[in-house]
Amino acid sequence: MSTVVYARVPDTLKQALEARARERGLSQTATVVELLEQGLQASDDQRSEALGRELASSTGQLERTRARLTQAEARLEAAQQREQALSRSLRALAERARHELASCPQCRQPLRGLDLLVTGHCPNCNRAITTLLTPRLQTGAPDKDEYLALMGALGGLLGLALATSNDPTT
Ligand SMILES: [Zn+2]
Repeated sequence: MSTVVYARVPDTLKQALEARARERGLSQTATVVELLEQGLQASDDQRSEALGRELASSTGQLERTRARLTQAEARLEAAQQREQALSRSLRALAERARHELASCPQCRQPLRGLDLLVTGHCPNCNRAITTLLTPRLQTGAPDKDEYLALMGALGGLLGLALATSNDPTT
């Protein structure tokens, strides 16, 4: 099936078309059809190349965005883990600090880690008890195991606090 297309073209183009038809031994109509088909094909190719480049660029961007998202998620997870570890250590220390671990050298009332580390005096007779912080043989000296456990809990918390403040990702 074919149809007729009328097109007004400049003289120079008409001359070029005639020359080409002679050169190829084709009719002018066949030459026009061939050239139009080639032109349309070339235009389609250019368009699909441009689309391909656009797609490649979008894909690259998507991959970079995904990578950044993955990094952000990893950082968030690490931060949450530190937060949980810190909270566990705080609870452990608070728990440990409530234990009785020594007794007042003056009134012999039991002393807790809290009295020793925070207030520094006996809650009963108000005597200063900071000397009990050095675990040597003395009246009311701390129970060694309790004392070590308290120091361990304190050390764990300090370690976490230092690790967190040195972390460049936060
Ligand atoms: Zn006391």
